[in-house]
Amino acid sequence: MTLYRATVLDTPADPFIGGQLRCEEDAGVVVEDGVITARGPYAEIRRAHRDEPVVALREGMLLPGLVDTHVHFPQVRVIGGLGMPLLDWLDQCALPEEARLADATYARGVAADFVTGLVDAGTTTALVFGSHFASAVDVMFEVAQRAGLRVTTGLVVSDRSLRPELLSTPDRAYEEARALAERWHGNGRLRYAVTPRFSFSASDAMLESCAATFKEVSGSWFTSHVNENLAEIDAVATLFDGAHYVQTYARHGLVDRSSVLAHNVHPSEEELTLLAALGASVAHCPTSNSALGSGLFPLRRHLDHGVRVALGSDVGAGTGFCLFKEGLQAYFMQQLLGRDGVALTSAHLLWLATAAGADALGLAEEVGDLSVGKQFDAIWVLPETGDPLAVGLGNAKSPLDALAKVFALGATSDIAGVWVGGEQVAAGRFRRP
Ligand SMILES: [Zn+2]
Repeated sequence: MTLYRATVLDTPADPFIGGQLRCEEDAGVVVEDGVITARGPYAEIRRAHRDEPVVALREGMLLPGLVDTHVHFPQVRVIGGLGMPLLDWLDQCALPEEARLADATYARGVAADFVTGLVDAGTTTALVFGSHFASAVDVMFEVAQRAGLRVTTGLVVSDRSLRPELLSTPDRAYEEARALAERWHGNGRLRYAVTPRFSFSASDAMLESCAATFKEVSGSWFTSHVNENLAEIDAVATLFDGAHYVQTYARHGLVDRSSVLAHNVHPSEEELTLLAALGASVAHCPTSNSALGSGLFPLRRHLDHGVRVALGSDVGAGTGFCLFKEGLQAYFMQQLLGRDGVALTSAHLLWLATAAGADALGLAEEVGDLSVGKQFDAIWVLPETGDPLAVGLGNAKSPLDALAKVFALGATSDIAGVWVGGEQVAAGRFRRP
């Protein structure tokens, strides 16, 4: 049992429907076997737990572990390829690198870089877009397990439109996916995600093979891309005889409450209605949408239709692992939308970066905030003395204001500690030896 003493901020209730930022200054949080068993004013908690060791995190703030609902493991080394729209960026930047993961030794190095990126950014749970190569997906699972992260990932499958070495067949994709799920799904904090790259690169036969895996692997997740870029959307409509993009997945039974579709920058009303009815979530990836010029995310329309939305970094089209940066960019984009935008507070941003992601991944009972009964997945935000964020926190007018400064100024280097299920994992300035 361990008692943590800290200022704790979290969003146990959705701010988009009236929830508030919860801030407890000088709180005590008791963790037993990775689970929060008590929290409250420190003095009170201490009286009830006089003999427990105390981890004093008095400066800075303790937040729930961050949840990234869309991030590509094979792309960590190509972050920063600016200047191209989606399909050019894929051809020139992302896919040549993804092809290199055919070599399992190369993939191991990439997986190590990727997991380091997640941990240092305070991302404790992630829906990870895997590799086209089963051997590389094995490596990803292995490295994620060693780090202790909550990772849902799987084999990326395609049978057209990409460079030949990334293509598979429906039968082979099914066999490889089932074998991977057999090895890793439900193993500790790992789960399997059925992952066609996007319907632009997956025929109906391939999507049907995905549907078989999705149905047969109980508790598996489904993820892919949707409505990211106008040229891509036109191409998909042509390939599927005018079907709308969401329908290309939904008609195979791939869209339900266990589905997360990335982007959805240009949805039709019909698609939003369908996503809401089926209970699927959308991963909003603001720096990626900005970097590729994909467009301004219509958050208002998603909220109005009742479509669940969480945040994704979309590394490597996104410009880094830091979900504070994604939150800030989401805020910028809504500001730029003017009257069509949603006025976001720091409480909305924290919700999107934590509890909304947990909900999208079906993990809301376990993680997403720091309530009693939840896993102790937490990050300690502690900027260096004199850093503009430290100055800002020292002069914040309210917890909401302090949290806004974290989103405006925070970087991965400000994350001084990361815990998953009560275990401290390497992070920022406190790396595991
Ligand atoms: Zn993506």
